[in-house]
Amino acid sequence: MDKRTLRERRRRKQLQLRRRKMIRLGIYGAGALLLAVFVIRGVIRPIVNRIVRQGAADEEAVQTQVSLADPDAAVRQPLKGVADLAKLTVMTSGWHEDESGRWYQNPDGTYFSGGFQSIDGVQYFFDPSGYAVTGWMTRGAKDYYFNDDGSYNPNKQRPVMALTFDDGPGEYTDRLLDCLEANNAHATFFMLGELVNEYPDTVKRMLELGCELGNHSWDHEDQTTLSLDAVEKQFSDTDNALQSVCGQKATVARAPYGAYTDEIIATVGKPFFLWSLDSLDWEYRDAELDYEAIMNDPTLGDGTIILMHDIHEPSVECAVRLIPDLIEMGYKLVTVSELAEIKNVRLENASYSDFWESSLISGLVPGYKGDAMSALPQTQDVITDSAAGTDESEDDPESEKTAADYENELFASESANPGGTSSSSFSSGDGEDTEDADYSDGDEEDSGEDAESEENYDDEEYYEEEYDEEYDGEDY
Ligand code: ZN
Repeated sequence: MDKRTLRERRRRKQLQLRRRKMIRLGIYGAGALLLAVFVIRGVIRPIVNRIVRQGAADEEAVQTQVSLADPDAAVRQPLKGVADLAKLTVMTSGWHEDESGRWYQNPDGTYFSGGFQSIDGVQYFFDPSGYAVTGWMTRGAKDYYFNDDGSYNPNKQRPVMALTFDDGPGEYTDRLLDCLEANNAHATFFMLGELVNEYPDTVKRMLELGCELGNHSWDHEDQTTLSLDAVEKQFSDTDNALQSVCGQKATVARAPYGAYTDEIIATVGKPFFLWSLDSLDWEYRDAELDYEAIMNDPTLGDGTIILMHDIHEPSVECAVRLIPDLIEMGYKLVTVSELAEIKNVRLENASYSDFWESSLISGLVPGYKGDAMSALPQTQDVITDSAAGTDESEDDPESEKTAADYENELFASESANPGGTSSSSFSSGDGEDTEDADYSDGDEEDSGEDAESEENYDDEEYYEEEYDEEYDGEDY
């Protein structure tokens, strides 16, 4: 072979090697690319997706929790089923009205149902079919009034009162329960443990009628003369007796003679109730006198707690006359715990004697959570297109601010007056004025009564006088 041929051959060989190398590199490159794609699609993306999805799921879980935590809030329902056929003819978002009432459609096609919902800063309540409720509505212990357009009217509040009966159960208690049942009214019974076993069916019936069980110690001894261990036994023995006859302990307590100390309340561990109106029934033992004493008492009014004794026949006779008459006057008769709920008070292991508006706004009632409007479930406000950009929508945050300011002032007054001295600036508060002006059921005496109860409150000695008087009384 000559040199040229050799060189040519070597050149070809090198070319061939280079080509192979290129092909190999190409294959490696393609392989690497495929591997990269595989890793990204098969491994990395699923992991990322899982993380993202987990986040969304967490968010969902939180949202579920929120909706579970507020059972009174309306839920969004998709339009579906026969019941919604009428609604399907109109698909624009906003308020709609048909022969059954007003309903609200969201831009996503859903509507509200089964709870409270704020729209343009106004509270509404939607029934299960999605229509805004109008007129009076009772939910739990509370009554709400909704105007003809469905908007909640916080100024219309039913005056409420709690009748309490001590020292029973007794032979006349069932007659009283008959009257409460016939009038759809509730009362609270502060009972003695030693009598509970004698009237097990009466106690059971109290619960069935929605009345409240109160603990009034075992045998009516003055608890301030006993050791705390003995006090604990007096109340726990009574609770055990109640539990054995009706399956429930007392939810509230009242000390015999209204005599207690902070240590006694802490030992018993229940909210303690005094009263704001003593009918003196234990002294009169006369149904007519009892009745007149209660009806003519200047403190009789919204938030009053009345003290009576169902072990005396004249007291029960008086109550049987009193109950329908108070209802006729527009009052709703509730248990002490219902009274607290209606007045937006979360009961604490403290002492309570009335739920008057004047006491509430003066910070005298432990656990008061602010005015009735703030007691509504907090729902996320929906702003309609029509309201956006108009003067109305500008008004909304302003009115909210006023409500918030009002509450701030309230808390400021609470912290400024921990002892509960009366602050005159609140007696002219907005809430009070409107409420006085607007008592619904033709209860003309109310405005006067409120003024009276404030007077009583301003007189700081009022409570002490009453307390001493009661304490000296023999028969509580
Ligand atoms: Zn008593």
